[in-house]
Amino acid sequence: MDETQMFDVVIVGGGHGGAQAAIALRQNGFGGSIAVIGAEPDPPYERPPLSKDYLAGERPFERMLIRPLAFWQEREITLMLGRSVTAIDAAAHRVTTDTGERIGYGRLIWAAGGSPRRLACVGHDLVGVHTVRTRADVDRMIDELPEAWRVVVIGGGYIGLEAAAALRRKGKSVVLLEAQDRVLARVAGEALSRFYEAAHRAEGVDVRLGVAVGCLIGDDRITGVRLATGETLPADMAVVGIGIEPSVEPLIAAGAEGGNGVLVDSGCRTTLPDVYAIGDCALHANAFADGALLRVESVQNANDQATLVAKAIVGQPGTYHATPWFWSNQFDLKLQTVGLSAGHDDAIQRGDPATRSFSVVYLKQGRVVALDCVNMTKDYVQGRKLVEAGARPDPEQLADPTVPLKALLPET
Ligand code: NAP
Repeated sequence: MDETQMFDVVIVGGGHGGAQAAIALRQNGFGGSIAVIGAEPDPPYERPPLSKDYLAGERPFERMLIRPLAFWQEREITLMLGRSVTAIDAAAHRVTTDTGERIGYGRLIWAAGGSPRRLACVGHDLVGVHTVRTRADVDRMIDELPEAWRVVVIGGGYIGLEAAAALRRKGKSVVLLEAQDRVLARVAGEALSRFYEAAHRAEGVDVRLGVAVGCLIGDDRITGVRLATGETLPADMAVVGIGIEPSVEPLIAAGAEGGNGVLVDSGCRTTLPDVYAIGDCALHANAFADGALLRVESVQNANDQATLVAKAIVGQPGTYHATPWFWSNQFDLKLQTVGLSAGHDDAIQRGDPATRSFSVVYLKQGRVVALDCVNMTKDYVQGRKLVEAGARPDPEQLADPTVPLKALLPET
């Protein structure tokens, strides 16, 4: 007897990209069978609240579901949860799971995302050391919070900063350690980093920059973090937000090209036949980075690549050209980013950061490539058009917050 189940489309990963791929297939009239294989036990849910209001205890899990459970049944989308794909036989069009199931596919959409990078030092696996990627990660933290007063957050990216803000809201004492000389170094320019550093300090977060962690100390449970300088910070809990490792091993082992992610073309096709990849793990040439190969770790990228692939499967192939955007909520600060600022050679501030409402416009050789907008949705909406148009506005006008950005759009 052949124990292999078969679906026309198998989607690996039940995060934003995987869920949206299934939704978009049905929205675009796909009538074949669809399975979503997800490692977590829960149906697809929104991850952004994990480091924000879910951690702060201000949003119940039920309000994070991407769709109610009945949706998947009604659309005849089979959710195969609590299992991971460990191997792919590209020639046979079949995947194998850690539960020993063999599942055949017509097309495979790899949307497996990534897993949090772990510290390599002694003590990294002590009880009380947490990452923030899944509901289970955050539930473990929430369980420990009543007994945890001193928290050391390691990493000053979005995860670290958002977690620090949520933990301060819960009255915890928070030290934040960042290896670089500024927070958000990977995603923002210096002015924005300094603003967020100051904002966190003003809220009582002890922000330490250019710091190397030596080891985590404790017998079974963490009791402290020792820095490379020898200083020890007492800690009842550590939160580690030092980036992700893309989950692509089975694809690479099956012969797909890649390394830091899996390589895809402008249609999100991997180098394996009938295998697409989307989301955090898809290494693609991004038009908003002058064609540089990169992975974009955002909900927008996962959703837009998912929709592109779903359309391709129903016979409407396209080229990925979606404008990158991100957001982050910390304290009363709503950061909205559009475009990719990496490689900018000029950054122009609009408005006064002291008002907690301002923007930074990033330029590359005079062209607007990105904006960071803090409590400034109008600039975000209008600035997006500048990024999309590759506008080259006059820097003086750009710096004048009384000049609306839409007035700086090139005439068509
Ligand atoms: P991240 O954005 O890569 O930031 C991690 C930061 O930690 C980097 O600045 C990194 O520096 C630093 N770091 C690395 N090793 C360190 C060490 N040993 N000690 C201290 N600092 C260290 O990653 P993340 O904040 O963990 O976020 C994970 C993923 O979730 C990302 O995809 C992120 O975009 C996503 N996320 C997004 C949002 C949002 O869009 N609002 C919110 C939460 C999470 P180096 O660059 O030198 O390694």
